[in-house]
Amino acid sequence: CDMGALDNLVANTAYLKAQGGDDREMRKRRRSLSLPKPDLCVTARNAVEKDFESLCEKQPVGKRLFQQFVTATPEYVFATEFLDELHDWELAEADTKDKTKQNIINKFCKAESSSFLSYLTGEVSDKCKAVTEKDFEEVVVGKVKEATRAFLRGKPFQDYKASLFYDKFLQWKEFERQPITEKYFYEFRTLGKGGFGEVCAVQVKITGQMYACKKLDKKRLKKKRGEKMASLEKKTLEKLNSLFIVSLAYAYETKTHLCLVMSLMNGGDLKYHIYNIGEKGIEMDRIIYYTAQIATGILHLHAMNIVYRDMKPENVLLDSKGQCRLSDLGLAVEVPAGKTITQKAGTGAYMAPEILKEIPYRTSVDWWALGCSIYEMVAAYTPFRGPETRKMSKDDIQKRICEDEVKFEHKGFDDVTKDIINLFLKKNIDDRLGCKGDDPRKHAFFKSINFPRLEAGLIAPPWVPKPNVVYAKDTSDIIDFSEIKGIEFDAKDEKFFKEFSTGAVAIAWQNEMIETGLFDELNDPNRCESGDGLDDE
Ligand code: ADP
Ligand code: MG
Ligand code: MG
Repeated sequence: CDMGALDNLVANTAYLKAQGGDDREMRKRRRSLSLPKPDLCVTARNAVEKDFESLCEKQPVGKRLFQQFVTATPEYVFATEFLDELHDWELAEADTKDKTKQNIINKFCKAESSSFLSYLTGEVSDKCKAVTEKDFEEVVVGKVKEATRAFLRGKPFQDYKASLFYDKFLQWKEFERQPITEKYFYEFRTLGKGGFGEVCAVQVKITGQMYACKKLDKKRLKKKRGEKMASLEKKTLEKLNSLFIVSLAYAYETKTHLCLVMSLMNGGDLKYHIYNIGEKGIEMDRIIYYTAQIATGILHLHAMNIVYRDMKPENVLLDSKGQCRLSDLGLAVEVPAGKTITQKAGTGAYMAPEILKEIPYRTSVDWWALGCSIYEMVAAYTPFRGPETRKMSKDDIQKRICEDEVKFEHKGFDDVTKDIINLFLKKNIDDRLGCKGDDPRKHAFFKSINFPRLEAGLIAPPWVPKPNVVYAKDTSDIIDFSEIKGIEFDAKDEKFFKEFSTGAVAIAWQNEMIETGLFDELNDPNRCESGDGLDDE
């Protein structure tokens, strides 16, 4: 057993043990925690967003506390109960869907019911009382839902902001603003290597939550002039909130690095799954599942006018449950609707003809690259390279991308799969699936996928990573970075580092508080505190 292998074993053992969760140190730390006192929350009160959507719907802690407020207020309680049950109906499976619908009608729409939605007025109220199963979608899912949200945005929202629940929310917002340093985390093994530094596993000391930390070496960043790209990647990640894109939870700095703390994806990337596990390629049920999640992630980006530009199996990572997310948004750009760009960017084998020919493009390039990726998951080679293993020049592949028809020589392709690939690989942007105002999720390739349930994380993954396996290269195979010499920082650099280091990102951080139980723990009125907050060093 050589030293490298031993180091790797030790690193893996510590990493796997941390994922097992619940250590005594953490519980001790937690007991000494408390929320900042209400009168110290002035900054949060002034800095906080003012709109209903952000405060009561998007931010998980805000949503919880608004719900607790509403539940404690009899005249409002049915409004949120109704929205919850409607949400359950939207996600219900075929066999319970009708029953759920009937329950909603009986409970909330009948004038004689004790939980009738009495805040409804005028036409909506009349229509609601007269609703049948037939016009349920138009009346209840449409009008009544909208009227309910409008109602909650009014007086209930005002009352909430004057309540103790909102004070509690501000305490959480103040807590969220705590400065983040490397002391906030334990650090574990290196998972991979990027252009500016390594990515390693970390664990939040007070919650036990595991994350991946992408470290960007400040000197390397300056030497290679990567600052703009790094800050763009950070700002893009910060804006997004999708189950199918890695989320950013913290951005902070150390003396030597800028750090992006993101969802830990410990199930390996899809390239690894295509080429390094079992027979080459991936089984069709898994391909459909991953492609559905990827397509949903891409649609989320496009809805925010962001073009990903780096869609390829290597950038799709699996988490411990076997769900996938898009990662590495370093090439993503915002292109407003109606505008186009021609900049050459992406990875050779996945570049669309319009990029190679410098034809103005927008979101079309991501659907092309998805077509290449589906093909590769089946065949274990990319469509314009083909099965031959001889080395091929870049120009050769690019010529083929622009001119050749796709061939399906591998026996793994069935007809629907060929069809969706052909549609994604139309040379002409206007002919391509996803580029004509159409929705790729409607293609028969996805007929087994219930997208609302997929987006709610309710469809069990077809394949789950083994919990005792580390799906990453051995630490000894991840080559260390050499030290950068002769770089000094000036005031402008320091300003950039500061601006980058914004600490916790609201939605991801609040999810962490809820999922790890710290939210309930610190809100518990019977809790006895010792100590005084976060600082334990
Ligand atoms: P770069 O943009 O510099 O190429 P990446 O974002 O691609 O950096 O990260 C480098 C490597 O680190 C990846 O190839 C992968 O092996 C690993 N990695 C990146 N993000 C994560 C993550 N969220 N979870 C687990 N491993 C990751
Ligand atoms: Mg990368
Ligand atoms: Mg990158």
